[in-house]
Amino acid sequence: MKEYTPVKEGKVRELYDADDSLIMVATDRISAFDHILQNDIVDKGVVLTQMSKFWFDFTSDVVPNHMISTDVNDMPEFFRNEKFEGRSMMCRKLEMLPLECIVRGYITGSGWASYQETGEVCGIKLPEGLQESQQLPEPIFTPSTKAEIGDHDENISYEKSIEVLERDYPGHGEEYAAKVRDLTIAVYKKCADYAREHGIIIADTKFEFGLDENGEIVLADEVLTPDSSRFWPLEGYEVGKSQPSYDKQFVRDWLKANPDSDYKLPQDVIDKTIAKYKEAYTLLTGKEL
Ligand code: ATP
Ligand code: MG
Repeated sequence: MKEYTPVKEGKVRELYDADDSLIMVATDRISAFDHILQNDIVDKGVVLTQMSKFWFDFTSDVVPNHMISTDVNDMPEFFRNEKFEGRSMMCRKLEMLPLECIVRGYITGSGWASYQETGEVCGIKLPEGLQESQQLPEPIFTPSTKAEIGDHDENISYEKSIEVLERDYPGHGEEYAAKVRDLTIAVYKKCADYAREHGIIIADTKFEFGLDENGEIVLADEVLTPDSSRFWPLEGYEVGKSQPSYDKQFVRDWLKANPDSDYKLPQDVIDKTIAKYKEAYTLLTGKEL
């Protein structure tokens, strides 16, 4: 049997090169306050991969995506076992565009900070008098450049995103920037509307796109998971303050109350957290995991 080792290990995911495809594996690792915690959240990776799968199917009429299969029986033998089952996605290999395509439907986080200072986010002028966590009149596209590990991504204006793309794809900067902006907003709108009807606010999210062998723009990476997005419970949503995180609130609260914990969680916090991930999956898909 051919053995595989990850070609890349991110904070929570492992990437394997399976010759003509890629296999993305979501582990059970969890990060909070920019740290990987010592504990695994058992089955978190399965929830995230299955959620991504749900959204890729849900948006396939809006944009083509990289998903080939989440069934390990379609993957090389090495992956056909419990360790990989449920948490792996076989994907088309793409040439990734050098942008993080962020879309914000609500004003919070770094967007809220920037709005308070300048009235703008990524060069976009917003109406006056917005309150923290308020829904924006229309979702806005606020791209950032991809940072090397350890660095923070840098927010850039739309004009700058054209330049960044033009550098790698001379003659296509404007075309690609407009396409990924429009796709980002269209996918976000469709999914955020759906999620809100099912009890979850997706305040903002990040997409990544790549080019396939025909030069077509394809949605890649993971999509609309709590790791790539801010999920808020619709219940209790109120403007004028920051919102609790749907998935990580127990973890954050506990870490704040226990600054000397060395990022090691007690079992009840782990249990409550995995329950939130599963609850989100069930609300969105109508299925139990
Ligand atoms: P972080 O943990 O901060 O997300 P990271 O982005 O470096 O760090 P991962 O997200 O685990 O780590 O890495 C996944 C990598 O795979 C990203 O670089 C992403 O751009 C890339 N990628 C996603 N889909 C595809 C694809 N279809 N083809 C090629 N590369 C892809
Ligand atoms: Mg990533």
